[in-house]
Amino acid sequence: MNNASLANLLHEERRFPPPAALAAVANVTADTYEKATADRLGFWAEQARRLDWAVPPTETLDWSDPPFASWFADGHLNVAYNCVDRHVENGLGDRVAIHFEGEPGDSCTITYAELQREVAKAANALAELGVAAGVRVAIYLPMIPEAVIAMLACARLGAPHSVIFGGFSAEAVAARIQDADAQLVITADGGYRRGKASALKPAIDRAVKKCPTVEHVLVVRRTGEPTAWYGDRDLWWHDVVDRQSETHTPEAFPAEHPLFILYTSGTTGKPKGILHTTGGYLTQVSYTHHAVFDLKPETDVYWCTADVGWVTGHSYIVYGPLSNGATQVLYEGTPDTPHKGRFWEIVEKYGVTILYTAPTAIRTFMKWGDHIPAEYDLSSLRILGSVGEPINPEAWVWYREHIGGGRCPIVDTWWQTETGAMMLSPLPGVTATKPGSAQVPLPGIAATVVDDEGHEVPDGGGGYLVLTEPWPSMLRTIWGDDQRYLDTYWSRFKGTYFAGDGAKKDQDGDIWLLGRVDDVMLVSGHNISTTEVESALVSHPAVAEAAVVGAHDPTTGQAICAFVILRGTASESDTLVEELRTHVAAELGPIAKPQRILTVTALPTTRSGKIMRRLLRDVAENRALGDVSTLTDASVMDLIQAKLPTAP
Ligand code: ATP
Ligand code: MG
Repeated sequence: MNNASLANLLHEERRFPPPAALAAVANVTADTYEKATADRLGFWAEQARRLDWAVPPTETLDWSDPPFASWFADGHLNVAYNCVDRHVENGLGDRVAIHFEGEPGDSCTITYAELQREVAKAANALAELGVAAGVRVAIYLPMIPEAVIAMLACARLGAPHSVIFGGFSAEAVAARIQDADAQLVITADGGYRRGKASALKPAIDRAVKKCPTVEHVLVVRRTGEPTAWYGDRDLWWHDVVDRQSETHTPEAFPAEHPLFILYTSGTTGKPKGILHTTGGYLTQVSYTHHAVFDLKPETDVYWCTADVGWVTGHSYIVYGPLSNGATQVLYEGTPDTPHKGRFWEIVEKYGVTILYTAPTAIRTFMKWGDHIPAEYDLSSLRILGSVGEPINPEAWVWYREHIGGGRCPIVDTWWQTETGAMMLSPLPGVTATKPGSAQVPLPGIAATVVDDEGHEVPDGGGGYLVLTEPWPSMLRTIWGDDQRYLDTYWSRFKGTYFAGDGAKKDQDGDIWLLGRVDDVMLVSGHNISTTEVESALVSHPAVAEAAVVGAHDPTTGQAICAFVILRGTASESDTLVEELRTHVAAELGPIAKPQRILTVTALPTTRSGKIMRRLLRDVAENRALGDVSTLTDASVMDLIQAKLPTAP
């Protein structure tokens, strides 16, 4: 971002107070903020007691060597014991942990007692294959129960896992396996996506050729399709796991023992191997899942639609919900298979009460039309969550009306792979929500917006989001690269964590995320947020999705170039393009009027569903495309390039 501060263009006046009935019995009340601010470390020490420690910690934070943090360092615990065994010991063995829904329609229910047996068997199997504390295990699986079981089995043994998105190319997989020096890979023959079996093992076979550290590949049979087999290396999961003992004694590990390595989505560049550890991580994912979703484990049915291959799946499918003894839905496939009502059919079938999904999905549902969710009974829902990108106010309001029946609070949760757990979010029983804003740091979290010099901006000002105090689930480093950890996060502003996201404060002091700093546009000396221009475009009834970038322009520095996807009923024309340009100017002011608008049928997204603006910038500036390895579908870029009339 350039020296000019980030312009504050979008004004949103709608407010939605928490429903009184929900607020009356909410897990967290307004006084928690004051308590946590008065004694931040005491607050986190109290949250750590949500967990069962083999050796309870007496220390909270050691920040004597910043930015390298230790939380609860003298405590010992086992993560899998906390997520599974203790619930069984507390008499909850019959509670459903997972309602699994496969894409082809197969389903199964796994209780906590069953999960305990499966995790024990998997841990015994892994131990037999030489996996011990500290040994890295790569996991490349579809969204099936074995993904959760494998992660918990690793955690149980103290073996850090590195989960890799099922569907990444062999090259991307190899790079991640090599970076972590994994000794074992757990994969499947394939999984179901978009109505057909999609093979996974061939990518592992190609990747592992370049990974000398890998001793074995453990393969879950999911699709039953034929697969190449390397006799002394490959083992079937059912051959090795099924014959194991159903009991396994968990060992307690120090709180700072590594739990997992996870590579960021790669939206802005080369993915970073983010290292998370045990005690602080589990404390914060457990607390935030309890607080932000107001989880009542006896009655709620929770569903997070993320993939376990990205951080939302780690923290809010596996570790947060299971540490809280939640009942949840795990769905293997895509929202449009076999029909576009599949998500709503699942909500109806299981009586889902809490739904956590991403803006990209919500915008897709908007594009498909209101009539689809209207065909299902969604009355069980009581809380809706959003994560992954800024949510456009219009998408937020659509989500509230058409999915939440106008009654469910929406929690827009800002956080990152690096933060491990939610950092900014409304609380459903406390906060009057504002469409499009993540609003406030959670209790115990210190965040603000600063200008170029690192000074806090006043209410109404814009700049960079920073985290001013360490937090329990913070990344500990970038795997094998302390220097990159320092350079990426701690060098922009001294002593403060730089999140890489633009943000502003409104007149109430609430925080609005404005997109990545790398994407901010500089037009005639004004820094303009991609998010605000995109939200203005999406607020036009003809537009379902928009992505904007700043492309080099000889007169204005950068010119705003917008790529839009039209809603089902709208059709492309010069008049519409002109109308959209005028609409943005009316919403945000003439400075934000896009110079060019191109209608497209798809936008480049990462596998976690985020728009990759840097590729659109390459297109708009007529350059060769940068790294496309984390793109869901590289052919999208050909379609977009074909739309481009001539070089600017
Ligand atoms: P990379 O760091 O490799 O470019 P990435 O940032 O996409 O990849 P993640 O850690 O999955 O990887 O995503 C975190 C980012 O997602 C945040 O920094 C922010 O830009 C965006 N984000 C997540 N949740 C929200 C939210 N509720 N509102 C706004 N932005 C969000
Ligand atoms: Mg990032």
